[in-house]
Amino acid sequence: MPAVPGRVDLEQPVWVSVEKGDVAALDEALFKSAPLAQNQRVAIYKFAPSELGRLADGMHRAMRRAPGFFAYDTLEAALEDLKTPPEPQARAYSLDQGVRVRELLPLVKEESIVSAITSLSSYRNRYYRGATGVDASKWLQQLWGSYAEGRPDISVEAFKHAAFQQESVILTMRGAAEPEKVIVIGGHLDSIAGSGDNPAPGADDNASGVAVTNEIIKVLIAGGYRPAKTIKFMAFAAEEAGLRGSGDVSAAFQKEGVKVEGMLNLDMTNYKGSEKDIYFVSDNTSADQNAFLGKLIDTYLGYTWGSFKCGYGCSDHASWSKKGYPASTPFESTYEQCNPYIHKAVDTLAQTGGRAEHSLKFARLGLAYAVELAK
Ligand SMILES: [Zn+2]
Repeated sequence: MPAVPGRVDLEQPVWVSVEKGDVAALDEALFKSAPLAQNQRVAIYKFAPSELGRLADGMHRAMRRAPGFFAYDTLEAALEDLKTPPEPQARAYSLDQGVRVRELLPLVKEESIVSAITSLSSYRNRYYRGATGVDASKWLQQLWGSYAEGRPDISVEAFKHAAFQQESVILTMRGAAEPEKVIVIGGHLDSIAGSGDNPAPGADDNASGVAVTNEIIKVLIAGGYRPAKTIKFMAFAAEEAGLRGSGDVSAAFQKEGVKVEGMLNLDMTNYKGSEKDIYFVSDNTSADQNAFLGKLIDTYLGYTWGSFKCGYGCSDHASWSKKGYPASTPFESTYEQCNPYIHKAVDTLAQTGGRAEHSLKFARLGLAYAVELAK
């Protein structure tokens, strides 16, 4: 699509890091020149932004990975991916908020999740370079802004990105006792079909993750909950284009020395493709935090759960893990059995019969996670 005059230059080149093993499985035409830098595992390439969609589409078709790579505004930022990521600081996890968790759980409502998925998937798409992608972000900013009324401890900001116009959205619930310690809960706001500005309702990928995030916020507010630590709820821009929204936000946090004690990424929650209820991504995530989430399920929810590997740069948790923050992704199914309709015009709520029964489980898990971690 044409660049919007007077704003940002949408034709700036982009630097991409990919796993070298993946390059062989993709169309050679995507990689016209040699990598600019590499180590044994990862290679850095320069892309025109117009070609980025083809890379994302190729990765999705060949590997069913979305996106499966990181994209950056500068070569300098991309080169960081050749370094070994820092180990997350070991921390103790405990479960002792049972009374509060059990009081709040019945407030989680499927109808409310359905309503949020319906609103988000009503946009033609939420493409990060498209007008309706910007509109969807503005809509969410307004909705979350309405939650701050009468709550001086709640604030909402639009996080602007230098290279594209879709903004990430952040709702902060300031901690009453240790506000400098932060828990992050969220998922990506954008959607894509094919390689560009096509119809992409993205009901499962990922209106369902944003709707779950929204539901956790609503229930915490309705229950009069005030966290001891700060909780930041996020809807990331441009995940499908190389985890760019979460990349920018996590980089800003790292630069400012924000103490992120845990990150929960919600990306695809409403399609029950496998036998068990919830599957944790086991690579590029925190094993300790994943175990804690499993314990939350066993203690409060009684769902079945498993795990699987999803590979390089497969969703927004990877941006946070890479900076040494403990991150996890509870996912709707195994890797192979996830929703076959994503990245197409048919990723609609009708595919799940207009229901959000599966998403409901993730909202309940996210709620327990928030209350037991932000104490
Ligand atoms: Zn997604």
